[in-house]
Amino acid sequence: MSFDPIEIRKDFPVLARAAASGEPLAFLDNAASSQRPSQVIDAMSQCYRNYYANVHRGIHTLSEESTAAYEAARESTRRFLSASSTREIIFTAGTTAAINLVAHSWGSEFIGQDDVILLTIAEHHANIVPWHQLAERVGCRIEFVPLEDDFTISDDVLRDKFQTLSPKLFSFVSSSNVLGTNFPVERWTKIAKEFDATVLVDAAQSAPHQAIDVTRWNADFVVFSGHKACGPSGIGVLYGRESLLDAMPPFLGGGGMIDRVTTEGFTSTHLPEKFEAGTPPIVEAIGLGVALDYLSDIGLDRIAEHEHKLCEAADGALRQIDGVEVIGPTPDKKSGIVSFSIDGVHAHDVAQWLDTRGIAVRAGHHCAMPLHESLGKTATTRASFYLYNTADEAERFVTAVQEVQSKFAKRGRRRRRREVPS
Ligand code: PMP
Repeated sequence: MSFDPIEIRKDFPVLARAAASGEPLAFLDNAASSQRPSQVIDAMSQCYRNYYANVHRGIHTLSEESTAAYEAARESTRRFLSASSTREIIFTAGTTAAINLVAHSWGSEFIGQDDVILLTIAEHHANIVPWHQLAERVGCRIEFVPLEDDFTISDDVLRDKFQTLSPKLFSFVSSSNVLGTNFPVERWTKIAKEFDATVLVDAAQSAPHQAIDVTRWNADFVVFSGHKACGPSGIGVLYGRESLLDAMPPFLGGGGMIDRVTTEGFTSTHLPEKFEAGTPPIVEAIGLGVALDYLSDIGLDRIAEHEHKLCEAADGALRQIDGVEVIGPTPDKKSGIVSFSIDGVHAHDVAQWLDTRGIAVRAGHHCAMPLHESLGKTATTRASFYLYNTADEAERFVTAVQEVQSKFAKRGRRRRRREVPS
C-alpha cells in the first residue's frame, strides 16, 4: 500500500479545523508536540468509560483490566524500541522527567567531583539543566562538543574530547530539535564504549520519526516523550540497560516502588516498578501504547521517507529566497525540520505572519539557548513536518515565507534607511 498523507489525515480529527484566520490549518509545529489520531483518543476514552481503576494492587475486575492494558502498553513500547525486556521500560512523565531520573539516580551513585559529563552543544535544555544541577550537587564538570560549519559534529573532534576529558557519561541528542541534524548514534556509542563511558540518547526527536533499535544502538539509556509521537502528553519513556537500572537507587519514593516498609526504612521492589513510585499515568500509558503501534503499523521507514521529501522541498525552496538563511544541514543529513531566519525580520513576526496564512510554526530559542548562542542567533523560526503533512502544505509554507521576506524585509530596510542619517 502506498503512503498517502491524505488518508492518514482522516485519522486526525483536529487537522480538519481551520486556523483563527479562517485559512485551512497547516500544522508544522510537530517538533514541539504532534497531534493524535482517533485510535489514541478512543483508546483513552474507552479506558475511562469502561475499565479505569488504579493498577497493580487491586484484586478486582477493573484493576485487573487496567493493569493488563497498562502492561500491554509497556510491551508495545518494548517492541517499538526493540528492547529485550519490559523490565527495561520505565514510564515517566516525559523526556525531561526521564533525564532527571537518570541524573538523580545514576548520577548520585556513579558521578563524583572529578568526573566529566560530555554533551553536545546542540542539546535541548532538558539534556543540559539536569547535568548542571548534578554538577551543583556533586561538583562534576560539564563539557560540550562543538558543531562543525555544516551543523554536524566530527567523529575526530568527538574522539579527541574522549581522549582529553575521559568523560564518565556522554549524553547526546540523536536528532536536533533546532537543526534537524541526525547524529550517528551507533557510531558515537561505539566511540564512547571504547572509552568505557555510559551513554544516554535523547531520542525525543527521533523516536516519533525513525525506527529505533536500542540493542543495535547499544546505548545505556534512551529517552523520549509520548506527545511528540502521536501519543498523549504527560507520558514518556526511559529505556535503561537492565544491569544499570538494577544497580541504580530508586529516584522517587512512595507507593508502588517498595518491597517492604518499616519504621526504620524500606527495601525497593524489582524493575520496572522500582522507578514508578505513586499512581502512574495509566491512561496516558495506554494511549502511548496505541500511538506506538499506530506508527509501527504505518511503518517508521515510510514515515521518515515521507518527511524527508517534504523537508527536501521546503528546505531547497527556502535556500533560494534572498535574505533567508536556513539554519541546519542539507536534507540528506537531517530529519523533517527546517529552521531559518530572515534578514531584518524577528522570528516571532515570521511565525505571526505564517499564522495569518493558517500555518503553525514555532519561533524562539526552542529550549536550546547554548546552541543559538554558538550560532550567534537569539531566535529562529522552525517548521517541522510529520506523517500527516502534505506537499501542498510545504508549498504554502514556502509561499508564506516568501511573502514575509518581501513585505517585512523591505519595510525593515526602509526603516533602517530613515534611521541612518546620510
Ligand atoms: N529533548 C528534545 C530534543 C526535545 O525536542 C524536547 C522537547 N522539545 C525535549 C528534550 C523535552 O521533552 P519534554 O518537554 O516532552 O520533556
